[in-house]
Formats: sequence, C-alpha cells, structure tokens
Amino acid sequence: MNSPLTPDICIIGGGSGGLSVAAPPAAFGVDVVLVEKGKMGGDCLNYGCVPSKAMIAAGKHAHAIAEAPSFGVTAGEAKVNFGKVHDHIHSVISAIAPNDSVERFRAMGVNVIEAEARFVDKTTLMAGDTEIRARRYVVATGSSAFVPPIPGLDTVDYLTNETLFERTRAPKHLIIIGGGPIGMEMAQAHRRLGADVTVIEAAKALGKDDPELAAIVLENIRAEGVTILEGFKVTSVSKRGKTGVRIAYETEAGEGAVDGSDVLVAVGRLANVEGLGLDAAGVEHDRRGIKVGANLRSSNKRIYAIGDVAGGLQFTHVAGYHAGLVVQQILFRVPARENRDIIPWATYTDPELAHVGLSEEEAAKRHGGRISILRWPYAENDRAQTERKTRGLIKLVVDRKARILGVSIAGAGAGEMINMWALAVTNAMTLKDVRGYVPPYPTMAEIGKRAAVSYYTPMTRKPYVRWIVRFLRRFG
Ligand SMILES: Cc1cc2nc3c(=O)[nH]c(=O)nc-3n(C[C@H](O)[C@H](O)[C@H](O)COP(=O)(O)OP(=O)(O)OC[C@H]3O[C@@H](n4cnc5c(N)ncnc54)[C@H](O)[C@@H]3O)c2cc1C
Repeated sequence: MNSPLTPDICIIGGGSGGLSVAAPPAAFGVDVVLVEKGKMGGDCLNYGCVPSKAMIAAGKHAHAIAEAPSFGVTAGEAKVNFGKVHDHIHSVISAIAPNDSVERFRAMGVNVIEAEARFVDKTTLMAGDTEIRARRYVVATGSSAFVPPIPGLDTVDYLTNETLFERTRAPKHLIIIGGGPIGMEMAQAHRRLGADVTVIEAAKALGKDDPELAAIVLENIRAEGVTILEGFKVTSVSKRGKTGVRIAYETEAGEGAVDGSDVLVAVGRLANVEGLGLDAAGVEHDRRGIKVGANLRSSNKRIYAIGDVAGGLQFTHVAGYHAGLVVQQILFRVPARENRDIIPWATYTDPELAHVGLSEEEAAKRHGGRISILRWPYAENDRAQTERKTRGLIKLVVDRKARILGVSIAGAGAGEMINMWALAVTNAMTLKDVRGYVPPYPTMAEIGKRAAVSYYTPMTRKPYVRWIVRFLRRFG
C-alpha cells in the first residue's frame, strides 16, 4: 500500500459546497484533496437547480406562445417535443459542466480522487484504496430525495429528481407527491409542457412560505390546470394496468384515489450521512445531517460540514456561503459564524416566490409585536402592467425604527428582486436608505421602493392618492 496522503485540507463531495471550498486554498498553493464518488457538480448541476431551471425555461416558452394573443401576437398552438426539451436540458448541463470538471480542478492544483470516501477513525479517511490523513476535513456530501415508506411505492417505477430529467417523453398524467418548492416548480413546468399534473400534499403546498404570498402563486398554478390536493395523505401506491399508477389517499372527509401515468416523489431531502463512517470519526449526526455549531465545526474539531449535509437550509447559495465561512477559518484562521437570518430563497414558479430575513410571524415573536407590515401590489406598477404580469405583491416587515427585518415577494422576477432586499437585510438597512435611492422607470423593482415610501406617506395607501401620484410621476 502507498503511504497515506497528508494534505492540509480534504474535502468530501465535489458539489456546490465542496468545489467552492477547494478553489481558494488551491490558488494559495495549499495542498488540497477533493474526493467525489459521482458526478462533479453534485446535485445542483446534474439533478437539481440547473436541469429544473432549464425545464422551467422550456415551459415558459410554451406558455408565452399560449399567452401571446393577449399581446396581439398569434403564433398558433405550441407544439412540445419532449425529446428536444430533454436535449435542451442536457445541453445546458454540458455547457456548465466544464466549470466543475475534474480537469479544471486538477489544473488548479487540487488533487481530485474519484472514489467513495469513508472515515475509518477520528483522523483517517479512505477514498477507495487511498488513505488520507488531513489536517482538516470538510464534509460536503449533500442530500438525496427522501423516499417515504409508503406501502407499494417500491412496486412502481417512481421518479425522483435523479431520474426525472432523463425522460424523453412527456408523462401523460404526472402525480407529484409533495407540494414543496421542487414539487410545485416541476408541476407547473410539466403542465406547461403538455402533461396533466396532480400534486398531492399532506399539509399546505408551499407551506414554508408566507401563506398570503404562497396563495398568489398557488392560485396561478391552479388556473393553469394543475390539480393541487392539500390535506391529502398518501396511504398506498399500486400499479394500474401495464404502465399506470394508482395513488390512494385519505383526507378528513374520507378516502379516495388518483390514477396517473407516472409518479414523482418530492417530499423532502435526506442528508447524505450513510456510509461515511461518521461514528468512527466521532462526528455527531442524525437523519437531518451532521450536527455543527454556527462555525460549521462538527463534534470532531478537525471536521467541518457544509451545505445540505449540515442540516440547515438546503440551497446552492447556502453551500457557497458555508464554503466561504470555512475557507476563512481554515485558510486565514479568522473566526466566522453562520447567520441564517440573511439567507434568501426563491421558488421559480410563475409567478416567482422569494423571501429573505424574518417572516411576519417570526418578526412579531422576536419584537413583541412591535413591527409594521408594508405591502405594495404589482398591479400598481407600470412595468408589470405593460408585461401583463400584474399578479403579485411585495411585503416588507420593519421594526419600530424602520429597520428592514424581512421581505417576501410573490410576482414576476421575485427571484431577481430579492437580491436588493438581501443586501438590505444583511446590512441592517432601514426604509430611509431605500427611500433615498432612485430606481429606473419603468422597472418592477420600483414596487419595493413604493412599499418603502408608503411607510412615510401612509396616505399613498389610498387608491385615489396613488392615482394622483402616478399621474404626477408621468406628467408632472
Ligand atoms: C430538483 C432540485 C432543484 C433545486 N433547485 C435549486 C435552486 O433553484 N436553487 C438552489 O439554491 N438550490 C436548489 N436545489 C438545492 C441544491 O441542489 C442543493 O442545495 C445543493 O446542491 C447542495 O450542495 P452540496 O454541496 O451540499 O451538495 P451536492 O451539490 O449535492 O454535492 C454533494 C456531492 O457529494 C458527493 N458524495 C456524497 N457522498 C460521498 C462520499 N461518501 N464520497 C465521495 N463523494 C460523496 C455526491 O456525489 C455529490 O456530488 C435544488 C435541488 C433539487 C433536488
């Protein structure tokens, strides 16, 4: 056996988090080993963000054709070639893949080992046959689709995010178990690409978001023809005919069943902790992931955990944020702590749904009810009118000193608009800061400024005053 590798840093997992940790130390000439057992780029590139957003983009084009007549443009009926949608998705993955490739990281000086990693004791990791004794380890093994123990589910070829984007034919009737962000994004995209879609959710669809704003999104998705069953608990799955599936459910009102052609399981994610030898390494963990402090260190001081496996919010930008905090500690020896209150998220339905900071409920709890809520509707925005994207709302939550505590947006471009508010929340800005900036006209970002200004001019909340303000802005 070869003598063990003794790098300064060993990273397990070459996805969003792991790759972001690897690059900076390598640039400083630090000895870095990265172990990846599957595809470089992890879930986000191969089975998550990138393919899902590419599919959503295809659905948007089909929908734009259907909507075109209201703009005076007639293009006939949209014809979807699902095989070509598949090709589009995979060509997008291929276009991005070189950035995350083994070749690129090796060229940077990272020692990439393509193998499965497993700790054998508190200081030693095996990557295939290679023994590694690193000064520091960073576990970035991500998460996988949670497949619940529903009777009969294992008797059908159910889909997960790992198989969904391999399909070259549209499902006739896709049944999605789970009405979270992934379930709802995929429901709308498949509907727009020609499938019948039923979502079955045991509680509330988009239940982690502000209910007032989630309702706007769900109303639109329903209007496009997706059936969303809330409060429906799946009790069993069985085959129907040669290729179909039957999903049995129970509700407070009784029992029933939905028949479809395919079933997608999207009920949540499980941290990838299995087979990592975490017990041998003395790393505390449970089903939600590795237990870490705010500095992302595990119970074994030598080992950090980041991204989905660290048991917090599961987003690519969180994995990237974690990577930065860990690099700061390991490379520069500067203490760093995670602040979950500044993390934004977005769901890429149409309209989009985005949030940063405290929700109305959290803010009311933390500030003893001494908060103000400011709303501004998309319908009051000129650009939204020109684009016929008038469904939506921004909601700002501020404290007594007008400090911005949280922002939620449902509406066109919400995922882009939340950026400015993430900056505001991160820097504890106040509405006064927002009042003083000039957004270009006509942009949807003006909606946020209008909401902020309304704090100082409560009169503008009255419709006739809003009409005068708009008149003066245009002609005054
Ligand atoms: C359908 C879908 C859509 C999504 N859309 C978005 C979105 O729009 N925006 C967003 O921010 N997030 C989105 N996400 C979430 C995002 O994909 C994850 O949060 C992100 O990939 C987490 O990064 P990570 O580095 O923690 O894990 P990953 O990127 O999954 O990387 C983990 C890597 O570790 C490897 N690995 C695991 N175990 C071992 C082992 N024992 N040895 C060696 N290697 C190992 C895996 O093969 C994998 O490559 C989406 C997820 C899904 C499923």
